[in-house]
Amino acid sequence: MQNPYEADRIHDIVREGLAQVLGSSVDEITADATLVSDLGAESLDLVEFRFEMETKLGVALPKSNVLDQLASALGGSEQLYDERGGISELAAEVLRRSAFGYSEEQVHAGMRPYEVAAAATSAHWAAFTHRIFDHLPEACTECAADKAQIAPSGKVQCAGCGAALEAATGDEVMAEGVRAALAALGHAQPVG
Ligand SMILES: [Zn+2]
Repeated sequence: MQNPYEADRIHDIVREGLAQVLGSSVDEITADATLVSDLGAESLDLVEFRFEMETKLGVALPKSNVLDQLASALGGSEQLYDERGGISELAAEVLRRSAFGYSEEQVHAGMRPYEVAAAATSAHWAAFTHRIFDHLPEACTECAADKAQIAPSGKVQCAGCGAALEAATGDEVMAEGVRAALAALGHAQPVG
């Protein structure tokens, strides 16, 4: 099923959710304001934000991060860091190819993992959240219709019978993105 959401609409919902969690106005949540440095988000805020998106949109944002998933895809973290604890070019490239859509300016080799985490903006989370809706089932299990629509609640439902649709989880989408990035970079991966 095709993603029924437009990217801008998801960004609005993400910004509203962040404003609610951070107790700020939606206007402050600009596309390039970083959640941690500019908006003062703490890890508990991000847990709450994940819960908000689950309630509003019915999606499960990832609990893991790209670096952890990359380490598990490569069977270890040796290739991810330089001797000073900064991320490697490979790690930076996989991050830039992830559904978050980091630019070269935002994520580059040599950054510390906490700096990578601090680089995330509402636009990155919106891009990732939008990508989750690219992973809807092929057809409705209730009526076999193959079109999705947005229910008044904001969740996604079958356009044929109105059944709730479950997209892949954020962790699944992230893991698939990591595998695809490694494959595109010609990186051999362990099986499994
Ligand atoms: Zn249906």
